[in-house]
This record gives sequence, C-alpha cells and structure tokens, in this order.
Amino acid sequence: MLEVEEALSRIIAHFEPLGTVELPVLECLGLALAEDITSPLALPPLANSAMDGYAVLHSDIAQATEQRPTLSVISVVAAGQVSTDTVTPGKAIRIMTGAPVPDGADTVVPFEETDELERRGRGESLDTISIHKTLPLGSNVRPAGEDVSVGELVLPAGTIVRPAEAGVIASLGLTTARVIRRPTVAVLSTGDELSAAGEPLAPGHIYDSNSSSVAAAVIAAGGQPRMIGIARDTLEDLHRCIDEASDADLLVTSAGVSKGDYDMVKDVLEQRGEMNFWSVRMRPAKPLAFGLLRTANERPLPLLGLPGNPVSALLAFEMFGRPAIRSMLGRSELARPVVEGVLTGPIFNSDGRRVYARIEVERRDGTWFATPTGPQGSNILTSLSRANGLAICPADLPRKEAGQAVKILMLDWNEEVAQ
Ligand code: AMP
Ligand code: MG
Repeated sequence: MLEVEEALSRIIAHFEPLGTVELPVLECLGLALAEDITSPLALPPLANSAMDGYAVLHSDIAQATEQRPTLSVISVVAAGQVSTDTVTPGKAIRIMTGAPVPDGADTVVPFEETDELERRGRGESLDTISIHKTLPLGSNVRPAGEDVSVGELVLPAGTIVRPAEAGVIASLGLTTARVIRRPTVAVLSTGDELSAAGEPLAPGHIYDSNSSSVAAAVIAAGGQPRMIGIARDTLEDLHRCIDEASDADLLVTSAGVSKGDYDMVKDVLEQRGEMNFWSVRMRPAKPLAFGLLRTANERPLPLLGLPGNPVSALLAFEMFGRPAIRSMLGRSELARPVVEGVLTGPIFNSDGRRVYARIEVERRDGTWFATPTGPQGSNILTSLSRANGLAICPADLPRKEAGQAVKILMLDWNEEVAQ
C-alpha cells in the first residue's frame, strides 16, 4: 500500500503551471498573474483633497486657532475639475473631496473648522470664510503618487487576482491582464449501473452523482470542467470517451479501478498508456489509478482514476485532483490548512489505514471542535454534505476517543485564511 503523501508526490511530479492567456479583469479572478504589472501612471495622478473644505496657504492659517483669519473665497472646484485659479495669500478655494488641489494651495481646511455652517444659517454668502483652527502643513492633501508612482512594480507575476487586485488593475486604466490559464478537466463516470440525473432511473440503476460532485470540485479548485458523461463498461465506449477528452489537461474518471471490478476500465487504460493502479493507505478511497494516456495529440493525457463510491471519489479528488489543478494554476500552496482540534465523538479505524472522518468543525472559546457528521460509509454522501472538515485518525491507531486531540483538514477553507 502507498502512503497518501507518496501517491500525491508521484502524481504532482507530472504537473506544472500551464501557459498564459490575456483575459478581461473579471475573468482573472482567482488566477495567477503571468507577468509583472508596472504602473503607466501615478496614483493619484494629481495632488487632491481628502476632505470637503477650503484649499488654503498654510501660512494664512498657521495662527487660525487664536486669530480666526478671514479669507476671500475666489472659486469652487469639484471632483473631476481642474481649477485654473491660483491660491495666493488671503485667498481660498472651496474644494470637494477628490478634486485636484489648486496651484498655490498647500493645505485643505475641512468645512467643520470654518464658520461655513454659521454663515449659511445666517443666509450670508460664502464669498469669505473664517478659519477656526490651525492644521499642520499639508493636512488633507493627498500627494500625487501617494499610492503608486509612474513605473512602479504594482503587482508582481504570481500574484493571485482577488477583488482588490481587480480594482488595482482597473485603477491603472487596464481592462485585461495576462494570467496562467485555467486547466480544462474532463470528467467521466464509468459503470453500467449509472443513469444520468434528469433521466428516468432504469431498474437496478443509480444516478451518477460523481460527474456532478467531481465537476463541482474542479470548478471550486479553479479548473474548467468538461463533462464527458457516462461510459458504459465496454471497450468501445471507454475508448470513445477517452478520445473525447484527449485535448483536456487532465481526465478524471470514477469507478472501475478497484479489485474485483469488471476489469474493463483497467484493461482499456492499460492499453492506452502507462497506468499505475495503487492501493493508498487511506479510508475512504483506497483504490486509485494514475497514469499518462496516449491520445491523438502529441501530448500525453494525465488520467486520475478515482474510486466509484461517491465519498471516496470526492475525497480522492480532494487529496490528489485538487493539488494537480492548483499546480497547473501556478499556486504555491497545494494543500488545505490543517489545524489542531478536539474530537467530540469517536472515530473508528478497522484496518490500519489513515482515516479521514467527516466532521463538522466549530470554534468555541479559541478551540476547534470536531463532531462526526454521522455514518462514515463510503457511499453515504449526505454525511460529507454535512461536513466542513475531515478529522484525521492515524493509520496505526484503532480508534480515537471523544476528548482527544485531533488534526483537522479544513475543507471549506482556503489556504489564504489564517488559522
Ligand atoms: P466501483 O468502483 O466500480 O466498484 O464502484 C463502487 C461503487 O460506487 C458502486 O456501488 C457503484 O455503483 C458506485 N458508483 C460508481 N460510479 C458512481 C457514480 N458515478 N455515481 C454514484 N455512484 C457510483
Ligand atoms: Mg463499477
């Protein structure tokens, strides 16, 4: 039997970041920038006001707290305008937040520090204004280039585009970015007993849930699924489905890789390339296949063969498929975070494999608590649906009791989230 880590490292060795593509900014979300982004402009482009107020010369208001100087207001400048006036001694320009600071002015006094409200209350004009309070030189002036200067490296290659990066890119006036492209992942279920959801259920059949769960997991990992559908357990059908997947970056199949199965899937895969059929020391999801298939393309097609049982399929994808996708996306962190917590119910381990038990994780008083979500059979998908984590019981431990410390793999968490 192969340890989980050994299987993972053998698989991961076959993946690397994919090629690059120029995409509209919103389509870059979650993808890694393929090249440095340097700024063609300064941000802000001009010095501008951080407040609604009066643009003044600091020398005019240096004694304002004691002297309450009165300045004459020569004009008004709103955001989006550039004032053609210059502030000279004894003068002020009324200015709105975001408006460029007029020539001559070096400080902005907010309305609150003037008698503007009183003047308005008395129905007086705002041709003059008294300043109540002195402020340090440069107050409320955002200097040009305060955020970004011309030519500055703003986002280095490898940065993951999140909402803030989408905004930074747009703030430079750019509408697209060059990113590492998403892998296309072909998803194929195999088995004579499967009916597609939405079709009538034939006698003795079950609905194919793996196509949907695995494709959803592909999307969640950042890949682009291609639904191949269901292959029947015949040579022709399996070959046809593999051909259909041949230009994908990865083919993920489910079922047909365990012992005692119809050997059809294994036979076909073996005919098509260098396949490995492993028993991995984990529960669920012991049987696993990985290899490189020959296709009509020059490039071999990596195939990840998941076990058929719905929980096994999804957990094997979590352990081996998701890291492969993240590697193709140029992500440095391939695994989910693992935290230390406390079990609130027992986990059983019957046969010396590492158990990944479905649990609900909760944080109470600074401690993570892990509560098993119910029956742990590899066909019981609803107990995975109720779980947001997996508690790990080491291979050599027959059981873990309530109250014991346990490692928890955080399923619903991203790598970026601090613990
Ligand atoms: P196998 O790996 O072919 O031995 O399948 C193991 C179990 O998983 C069997 O009970 C199958 O019916 C079930 N199974 C296989 N494929 C799927 C699928 N796509 N959706 C739901 N159950 C499946
Ligand atoms: Mg089968």
